[in-house]
Amino acid sequence: MDLSFLAAAGAVLQDTYTVIPEDAAAHGPVNPWVALAYLVAGVFFILALRGLSSPATSRAGNRNGMIGMAIAVVTTLVTHDIANIVEIGIAILIGGIIGVTIARKIAMTAMPELVAGFHSLVGLAAVLVGWAAYLNPGAFGLLGGEGISAVSKVEMGLGIAIGAITFSGSVIAFLKLSGKMSGSPILLPARHVINLGVLAVIIVLAALFAMASGPDETLPLIVALSVLAFAIGFLLIIPIGGADMPVVVSMLNSYSGWAAAAMGFTLGNTAMIITGALVGSSGAILSYIMCRAMNRSFISVIAGGFGADDSGSGSGEPREQRPYKQGSAQDAAYMLEQAEKVIIIPGYGMAVAQAQHALREMADLLEERGVEVKYAIHPVAGRMPGHMNVLLAEASVEYDKVFELEDINSEFAQADVAFIIGANDVVNPAAKTDKSSPIYGMPVFDVDKAKQVFFIKRSMGGVGYAGVDNEVFYMDQTMMLLSDAKKMVEEIVKALD
Ligand code: NDP
Repeated sequence: MDLSFLAAAGAVLQDTYTVIPEDAAAHGPVNPWVALAYLVAGVFFILALRGLSSPATSRAGNRNGMIGMAIAVVTTLVTHDIANIVEIGIAILIGGIIGVTIARKIAMTAMPELVAGFHSLVGLAAVLVGWAAYLNPGAFGLLGGEGISAVSKVEMGLGIAIGAITFSGSVIAFLKLSGKMSGSPILLPARHVINLGVLAVIIVLAALFAMASGPDETLPLIVALSVLAFAIGFLLIIPIGGADMPVVVSMLNSYSGWAAAAMGFTLGNTAMIITGALVGSSGAILSYIMCRAMNRSFISVIAGGFGADDSGSGSGEPREQRPYKQGSAQDAAYMLEQAEKVIIIPGYGMAVAQAQHALREMADLLEERGVEVKYAIHPVAGRMPGHMNVLLAEASVEYDKVFELEDINSEFAQADVAFIIGANDVVNPAAKTDKSSPIYGMPVFDVDKAKQVFFIKRSMGGVGYAGVDNEVFYMDQTMMLLSDAKKMVEEIVKALD
């Protein structure tokens, strides 16, 4: 096992700990046992991230994360002057019950909006902690001879600003992902000038807040900073269109981590600094990887709607009727049996229909007949990073049959069948050819190179997340299998039996 990541973690933690002596004046001396407990929690968080990097180890990763969080929470509770432990216990109990209930009820397909919703709470928590520390600095160990120090005020201002941006941005992401607000970009005129202007004002306000003294001077500044930060969160996310939403979800994840880290500095809490930095940097790395996989520039996504067309092309336009071929489960079963190589491309519709188990059964039957079956996973298939991998793992599909876009795309030319089940945008050639399309630039599977294409979706009327028509429906070698994905695959399985 490669343990080099532990060395890197050690370096990060060492760096983090060197901050403590300088900060000791503000927060009091650090108990070495507390520092050790937080260090152990930090190692568990790193092991959690490591575990989450593969479906095979993700359960262990989650367990490590839970252990790390338990250590951090218990350490904080037993080593701080807690005003009322009963009240805190009741709050933890209520929060725990709500969390467990939501986690048990939530459908996998609604996971991204749940994640966005939870990020909004992390942002709000950072804002509230920042405000609490501002209003009662003595309780947070922040009162020096001349009030709150300038450094603490910078950390406080940053934490509140990032937290507020995370909160309002996540609320918009939640509304867009859950369909309560249109996924199309909302493009205000001169939005880039407005956004940059507001960001500049926030930075100036944070600097003035750090230099100001006394509530008369600081209060109006921190109120203005909070209000503008909430506003910029809305402004930054509303122009981002559906196709870029996956990046937004992971970017807000990153912001929530930085907000927590900034608050960790304010409170002198190393566990918060470590956790926040881990969440912030892993979210930023994931956003970058997703941008690269979608051929989008990171700056253009976070700047909000840079790549978007003001005309809002593609979505909502009436679609012309064009001829297409429709087939039955029996037709598909017959042709699948004759094939030598089948590549399955799952997408959001497979998740909605929960068709992964039937799909696995179909693949098993084909393999028994000597057909080679592979699964092709697009980095943004479904509605959250890794969505398809999780579902296929749940159906016990072996990992060595599951391939990433760049590893399998060249194989479509040798495939007899490209079997598209509930995917749409990720196979849409408009991403390669139509500059006005909202998904232009996103790499897509070359399904048109396969000899035969089966396309499972419920109707010709439905479109993918980006809301654009798909040329693949009308290709000569395409057979549309119009039905709920699970029902269709179960019928194919019956026909193969
Ligand atoms: P799409 O959203 O493009 O297409 C889904 C397809 O599934 C549609 O053709 C729909 O057609 C069909 N479908 C829906 N329900 C069923 C059902 N019960 N049975 C059969 N078919 C069904 O999915 P993709 O996975 O191809 O693309 C993902 C899109 O989501 C990309 O645009 C991506 O940017 C975006 N996105 C991804 C996120 C991520 O992190 N992965 C997060 C947020 C957005 P019909 O209605 O006719 O059945």
